[in-house]
Amino acid sequence: MLSMSWPKKGTKLYSILKFKCPHCHEGEFFKSRNPYDLKTMSATFDRCPKCDRKLYIEPGFYYGAMYVSYALGVAHAVSFWVAKLVLGFEMEFWNFIILVASTLILISPLYYALSKIIWANLFLNYKEKENEKSNSN
Ligand SMILES: [Zn+2]
Repeated sequence: MLSMSWPKKGTKLYSILKFKCPHCHEGEFFKSRNPYDLKTMSATFDRCPKCDRKLYIEPGFYYGAMYVSYALGVAHAVSFWVAKLVLGFEMEFWNFIILVASTLILISPLYYALSKIIWANLFLNYKEKENEKSNSN
């Protein structure tokens, strides 16, 4: 493994950016690591394939991810707006809207996946069951 030490294992950022189980940071979180895999559409495992932690905590659990997804969408639009100001782009209002909307559509599978794993990380913590500590590295 070359220089992939950031983010550090054990941090929520690690689980989020590496798409790993929020509990053990080893098992996969998604059935497919590719958010653009339209067959799975960021489907998550019901249980972590590695540590068996329940990832689908309750029915409809991942509906809450839409709040995260909304926040990501807003952050996306705001960063385009800030970039436009900083770089001093002159652009028609509706062209700007089209630019933001079309990039948002292109990136939405990634945001969808991110929103789910961020949502899961709000509720699941790394190695939260202390009795499993003994056999961790
Ligand atoms: Zn796990």
